Amino acid sequence: MTFDYDLFVIGGGSGGVRAARLAASEGGARVGLAEEYRMGGTCVIRGCVPKKLMVFASGFAPAMADARAYGWQVTTGAFDWPAFRARMDAELDRLEAAYRGNLDKAGVEIFDTRAVLEDAHTVRLADGARLTAKHVLIATGGAPFVPEMQGGQHVITSNDVFKLDTLPDRILIVGGGYIACEFACILNGLGVEVTQYYRGAQILRGFDEEARGHVAELMREHGVNLHVGTEVLNIEQTGEGIRVKATDGREMDYDKVLYATGRRPNTAGLGLEEAGVKLGRWGQIEVDEYSQTSVPSIYAVGDVTDRINLTPVAIREGAAFVETVFKGNPTRPDHDLVPGAVFTQPELGSVGLTEEAARAQEPIEVYCNSFRAMQSAFAGRPDRVMMKLIVSQASRKVLGCHIVADHAGELIQLAAVAIKMGATKEDFDRTVAVHPTMSEELVTMKAPVRSA
Ligand code: NDP
Repeated sequence: MTFDYDLFVIGGGSGGVRAARLAASEGGARVGLAEEYRMGGTCVIRGCVPKKLMVFASGFAPAMADARAYGWQVTTGAFDWPAFRARMDAELDRLEAAYRGNLDKAGVEIFDTRAVLEDAHTVRLADGARLTAKHVLIATGGAPFVPEMQGGQHVITSNDVFKLDTLPDRILIVGGGYIACEFACILNGLGVEVTQYYRGAQILRGFDEEARGHVAELMREHGVNLHVGTEVLNIEQTGEGIRVKATDGREMDYDKVLYATGRRPNTAGLGLEEAGVKLGRWGQIEVDEYSQTSVPSIYAVGDVTDRINLTPVAIREGAAFVETVFKGNPTRPDHDLVPGAVFTQPELGSVGLTEEAARAQEPIEVYCNSFRAMQSAFAGRPDRVMMKLIVSQASRKVLGCHIVADHAGELIQLAAVAIKMGATKEDFDRTVAVHPTMSEELVTMKAPVRSA
């Protein structure tokens, strides 16, 4: 049977674009790709990239306060959101064009439209056109999830934050995960009065407990009104703003209410189940270790599979798919020891096991220190850095590293290389410190704070 394409990709985000480009340029495949919104997906258009630009923007207020402490005469003016937003939009346009250009260069045929599956080898475009492909890759990502509730029409999600015409004076953020905590810090830094409600006992579930506590404490010190064990009861629009009643009895008015209560895979209406593709409880596509679905010609990568929902992981999954299917080299994407960072202020960088997970696995030693870093201490900031290593008593290997500090995202990337290579605590110890830095603490912690 002849097909129109060797590969048809649905979704032009990080995973889909990488797979399409590699299949065409290195795998010699005829490739089509359909994207219904903008090329680049969540990461480029309404996620990592604009978020990080906002992190940078919000960092200037404390930087200017530090500058004064260091002797500079600085007068801080107001933050001009429309001016920043226009520059951010221009940068996203530039990146989108670069993604598109790279696909073009690789010879990928782009369809700026929605595509759905018709059967194991056929996709149908919005105009009704049917295209056949030997393989189909689903890389449609995820979308914000907002629980059903009364007054739900008054809330926004992270998608909307980047498009606000004006910044609110007062915002309520609901949730305690990556997105809630990052936007709480960003908006607080930009001068917005931020209240955050989290339903559980401590924010950032899944991260090391000591690190979570450290971040929460510093978020509060920086001015975020963080309330844990608190849920929304009722939301209504009044003349004063959006009135929110919470389980702790508090009733407050806000200009915006942002729900960052998780994301769900984008699989609704794609024709997946009709084509025989098995979905999980939240609509995620079930795949094997080679990203193959229950229909042999259909594969899926990235957030739509709900494995580890991070851009670099989606990219690796896309590349492994091309190795497997188009280069005759069966390759499993490696999901072990994936480092990550939460871009709060300060940041939380993490790789490997939390203390809690490591304790459950084997006897460990914990090395941890919390201290005031030179730069912020001189400026009179109360921030404390936290550096923590979890070490196996038996193998001496470093099982996990958790850093709460400015630039922790940068630091954890380098620690992750050593840990991925299997470094032991003694390998860290015999590495000479770089002085004076924050990260020298990682190679100078002599005695464990506890063993378990
Ligand atoms: P998360 O899963 O990280 O957090 C969701 C939060 O919402 C949790 O605190 C959860 O509480 C809470 N929640 C869920 N349902 C409800 C509800 N019905 N009512 C109240 N609270 C609720 O999701 P995010 O949306 O923050 O981020 C999605 C994913 O995107 C992340 O997991 C990550 O993989 C990725 N991401 C990565 C970033 C990075 O690398 N820096 C940045 C942003 C996103 P509970 O803990 O109790 O379940």
